[in-house]
Amino acid sequence: MKLDQCCSNHTLCCVATGDFLPTRVLDTAGLPADIVRLVGGHDASSRRYATLSHCWGKAQISRLLADNQTELERGIAIHTLPATFRQAIQVARFLDIRYLWIDSLCIIQDSAADWEVESAAMAKVYGYAHVNIAAASSLDSGGGLFFDRDPRNILPFAAYAPGSQDKLVEGWYIWRDDGRWGKVGQEPLHQRGWVLQERLLSARTIHFTKSQIFWHCLEDLGCKSIITCVPGERQTFPAMQIGDYTDIRVTSAEIQTRGWSSKRAAKLVRDWQRLIMQYNKCGLTKDEDKLIAIFGIVDHIERLTGDRCLLGLWRSHMPGCLLWLVDWGTTNPDELSIAPGSARPRPEKWRAPSWTWASQNLPVEHLFYRDDAFYYSRPLAMAVARRQNGSALCGKLELHGPLVTVDVGLVQGEIAARWCEGTISSLQGQLPIQCHVQTDDVYDSSVPAKALLIMQDWAYYFILIVPVDASEAEPDAFRRVGILVVETEDEETVSGLLSRSRGGAKSMWDEYSKVIKLL
Ligand SMILES: [Zn+2]
Repeated sequence: MKLDQCCSNHTLCCVATGDFLPTRVLDTAGLPADIVRLVGGHDASSRRYATLSHCWGKAQISRLLADNQTELERGIAIHTLPATFRQAIQVARFLDIRYLWIDSLCIIQDSAADWEVESAAMAKVYGYAHVNIAAASSLDSGGGLFFDRDPRNILPFAAYAPGSQDKLVEGWYIWRDDGRWGKVGQEPLHQRGWVLQERLLSARTIHFTKSQIFWHCLEDLGCKSIITCVPGERQTFPAMQIGDYTDIRVTSAEIQTRGWSSKRAAKLVRDWQRLIMQYNKCGLTKDEDKLIAIFGIVDHIERLTGDRCLLGLWRSHMPGCLLWLVDWGTTNPDELSIAPGSARPRPEKWRAPSWTWASQNLPVEHLFYRDDAFYYSRPLAMAVARRQNGSALCGKLELHGPLVTVDVGLVQGEIAARWCEGTISSLQGQLPIQCHVQTDDVYDSSVPAKALLIMQDWAYYFILIVPVDASEAEPDAFRRVGILVVETEDEETVSGLLSRSRGGAKSMWDEYSKVIKLL
């Protein structure tokens, strides 16, 4: 079967083998057979365990609490567990995997300390799992893994076509619906933010969906209607559409097996940016989990490359990683009720500094890092601190670069949710330069906004910033409120900017070598 083939023949899938077991696991092989027990990982007799990916949903879920731990260690009657948990135990037993890890039963849910330690260990929990069981179609733990299915809906079948005048030649045809793979990513489970890293960190996942069961590992894909991966067609196979971000698994496995190179590291950053675009479209029950629910992948990449993740952006690729923007194309500003005094795209309670996408509630896009671009700004100091599980404690960047004043023309409290025209107004004695501006937060528009030039390729990219509070002790402290682009189609504008930026007329800038603090 797929699992045996994967364990015996797939180099990439077998990278994470080692002596690790989660702090607690459920023992499914003890006696009597109608109970499972919560046991400490150090007491387990084997290193082999399975994990469960599932939606918590709104249903009451079986949970480990500080005051029922002893009871669960004595034994949990399987019939008292919800369907998804019961059936995951069945699957683990069928696969001869003795131990099973389920988050709600293996992390003490009413202990903040245990939560912080265990949520920080997700990279290992999923990375070392023998297999991940995904309850893809269930909205909550009552939904289960198994569904009544009509096999005729998925199996290939032969059909006779009479032919047509244009393309179809008369004859018998085999109908095979390859497109089903793409639908796995649309299942309810895969709309949840936490699940993304569970799927990515697991070498092997079995997706239980309403239509059929899917197998997904780094080197193979399979389901009932398509028995095996077509050799040489992996990249184009519809299964990869479970998410483009599966690239990050392949790239990281390549680094593990073939070694680090700057090219692979740069690709990993681009893979990460694509992943974040997907991640920010997923739902999170708790807003404050934004950096925590993806920290397993951060931890994995940091261990692999030695790079450091600065609350969502990579140190090795600063300041280019600052060039993200809100994906207003998939967001309806009317639904967000963005108006003076109403909800803002950033949470009320501080979650992360303004320069990282993690400060945003909305989907984001990235201007991908490019090796051949010219970077005008550079980071001088990065005072960033996080908790053990990745959540932000503080984050201050000190950047050095060319600064201009911008007239965006927004009324108080308005957000430029679509690209709007702005003017760079500080270039003295010259015609104002037109620019495109998109904002991602409200700000006091009575104070002129500034823009810091970050990078140039086919256009000039700035981040739009406003003073935090000029009267405070840090007059050069700014927060990010958007992004600004000057296109290079206008040759005169381009040559003007170039001569200034390369030292020809530095006075045209507010300051060509300005040091700012970004909060
Ligand atoms: Zn495999």
